[in-house]
Parts: sequence; C-alpha cells; structure tokens
Amino acid sequence: MRRPKCKHGNVLCSQCIVADDAAKRAWEQLKNIAVHTDWETRMHSIVTIRLSDGHCDGTLYESKREAVKHAGNNEHYFAYFSFRSSPNGFASPRDAAVFLEYHRQAYDNGWRLPDPDAKDGGPDMIMPTPQEDVFAQLARLMRAAVN
Ligand SMILES: [Zn+2]
Repeated sequence: MRRPKCKHGNVLCSQCIVADDAAKRAWEQLKNIAVHTDWETRMHSIVTIRLSDGHCDGTLYESKREAVKHAGNNEHYFAYFSFRSSPNGFASPRDAAVFLEYHRQAYDNGWRLPDPDAKDGGPDMIMPTPQEDVFAQLARLMRAAVN
C-alpha cells in the first residue's frame, strides 16, 4: 500500500500527524487506566487498543500472549500497549496518533506482530527515540519487506 509523503518526506511524521478522534480516545483511556491502577500492576500489564477507533476496553493482561489470544482472529485490529515503558500511557494525543498509525502501517505492510502461537505473543516493535528514528527504521524495514 502506497501512502503519500509529507513535506518532510515521511509516510509517518511526528510533526505533521494530527491527533484524530481515535488517538484522543486512546490517550484518554490509557490516562484513565494510569490514574486508577497502581504502579506495580501497570508495570506488568498489557492493554489492547483497537486501531480503528482507539478504543481500549480497560482489561489488563499479564502478557502480550494473553492479550493476543483474547483478540481471537482479529488480532490485527489491535495494537498492544505495554505500560512498562510508558507507565502513564501516552504523553499526548499526538503520541497516541503516532503509535496507532505506526501499527496500522506495519500491519498493512504484512508484518505479523501479534502471534497467538508464540510464547511471547509475537515480536514487539521497539519504538526508539528520537521519534524521527522510528520513521527511518520503519522505512528501512518496509523496503526490506518489499525486496
Ligand atoms: Zn512531516
């Protein structure tokens, strides 16, 4: 799937991305979970976020594998968020937008991230910082996937 590039030459750009309703919903729902769940619990929790609308049902899973299993045959409709690296959820609606869009593009490009048969639930995408590195990495991996 071809996507248009922004003026910075990115298909996914942290500067140009606009936080849509899905991103705002995901940001808000994770913030709520962070407020109502103690730190220790969050550190060991994974939640699912529906890519289409940012909905998170609030269920805390002990592992990504459990979360992926719960999604059944629809595992690619969801992103899997671990509070371990981001205890308070997303820093902003825009961060949520980047996270969701990153997963949409990865799935669109045929990445199989959630894997109910894998012991760890499938490989995680590590989102490095600074954010622009993420997009360079994504571009490299997309090129590699095509070749
Ligand atoms: Zn841009």
